[in-house]
Parts: sequence; C-alpha cells; structure tokens
Amino acid sequence: MLSSPQVFGARWPAIRAAGHGIIGAVRSGPGPAVARLAPAGWWRYIGHHARNVANRVWHVGRFIGNLPSTEVGYTYAQAAGAHCKFAKGLMVVCTDAHPDFIPSGHGGLTIGSVYTTSDHTVDPSVLSHETKHADQNVLLALGDPVLYGLWYAAGAGSSRLLYHWRDARHDSQGRTCNDPNICYNFMEIWSGLHDGHYYH
Ligand SMILES: [Zn+2]
Repeated sequence: MLSSPQVFGARWPAIRAAGHGIIGAVRSGPGPAVARLAPAGWWRYIGHHARNVANRVWHVGRFIGNLPSTEVGYTYAQAAGAHCKFAKGLMVVCTDAHPDFIPSGHGGLTIGSVYTTSDHTVDPSVLSHETKHADQNVLLALGDPVLYGLWYAAGAGSSRLLYHWRDARHDSQGRTCNDPNICYNFMEIWSGLHDGHYYH
C-alpha cells in the first residue's frame, strides 16, 4: 500500500499543513485571521440571533404560504366589521368583529394567518394558540382553507369519538375541558388547550 508522501510527492508537506490547519480551526474555533474579519462580538451576535433569524424566515414563509387562505380570512374579517392590524409573527389580528361571525363556544377563528375575534383585545397566550393554527394551515393544508377545514373536521371527529369513550378531560390543576369537538382534537392539542382557554 502506498503512503501519502508516495502518492502526493513534493506536495505532501503543504497538503498535510493545510489539513492540520483545517482540523485546528475546527477544534479551536475561528483563527486569528477570521477573528480579525469578524470580531468576537459578531460571533456572539450570530450565535444569539441565529434562532431569531430562523424564526423570522419561518414567519415570512408562513405568511407567504398562507396568502390564499389569508385573503379569505381578511375578507371574512372585513365582512364581520372587524379592525385588523399586524401582530407578532406576521399574524393579522382582527378585533371587535360582530359576534354573529364567531362560531359559538369559540373566542374567535383563524383563517390562514388572520385571527378574527369579537374581543377588543387579544392576550399573548391566545395569539400563540392561533399562530399554531396558522402553522398547521401551511404544514398540513399547504395554505388551502378547504383542505384545512377537512383536517380540522378530522380532528373534531376523532375528538368526539375519544370524548365519548373517555369523557371530559382534566388538567393537573383540576380544571376541565368539556367540549367534545376540542378536548381530544389533535389540531387543538397541537395549538395548546390551555393557551386556547379551553380548560375551565
Ligand atoms: Zn384552537
């Protein structure tokens, strides 16, 4: 078997030095030359903000992916006389909708990236819950509101079956979820039953 110097000849010392340089850089982090280009503060900044950047990229992707549904949601909110504005995560929150437009037993509804509610204000836990429904609309329904409706109907149907079998659901603090369409609905569990205020 040939050794590396036999294969690479006169170039071997340079190749070996480059290899050690790469291994050394990987082991010890950015070397002095890189550190001069990007001071320590930058590396800390990048490390600290990489997650925020990833979140932001997802928020934009969700917003774009949801646009077909969002158009429907926005039209619905306008018909309900709600006032809309952008909220965290590029969600559109529409408040003061006419109560006739909100399904009974619900605080509001999310279509695409638009949350429409008859409430005057939206607390952060509700926004977090509704934002996860917007995630589902991209991830499960590819932004299609009709397909989302089918997923939700599947969740509600399986929840009713489980409710029939297990009855009301209790949390560790002794609160109760008693809506058969909601308590075992995987779409609502994903979004958070507590954040959705489904335990009473
Ligand atoms: Zn929900």
